[in-house]
Amino acid sequence: MCLPAIVLALAVWSSAPDLSGPMPARPDEVCVVCYGTVGSSGIAYLLNGVRYAVSKEEAPLFLSDPQGYAKRFDEHQRPRMSMLIWSGGLSAFAVALIVAAVRKRRTRQSTG
Ligand SMILES: [Zn+2]
Repeated sequence: MCLPAIVLALAVWSSAPDLSGPMPARPDEVCVVCYGTVGSSGIAYLLNGVRYAVSKEEAPLFLSDPQGYAKRFDEHQRPRMSMLIWSGGLSAFAVALIVAAVRKRRTRQSTG
């Protein structure tokens, strides 16, 4: 028995990403490498249970550093979501301001 080898193998195994696939992706899924749609030749991988789509020609790039690409992709997607929430909140605020201004004008006109 060579214990260090077993320990090393276990360490490598436990730190290796849990990657499964490829499986066919929907054409409208966002590519993890270039953030475009993957198109009809797109494929998808499951990394630690999370699905990532990639263009077929960029799959080798993704597979060279799946965790790196997945991390960058997640960070790329997140600000977009908060931006949507922000712009939604801002437009609601703008509408409220306009409604308030219109109401003020109306009351002014009716009183005099
Ligand atoms: Zn791509």
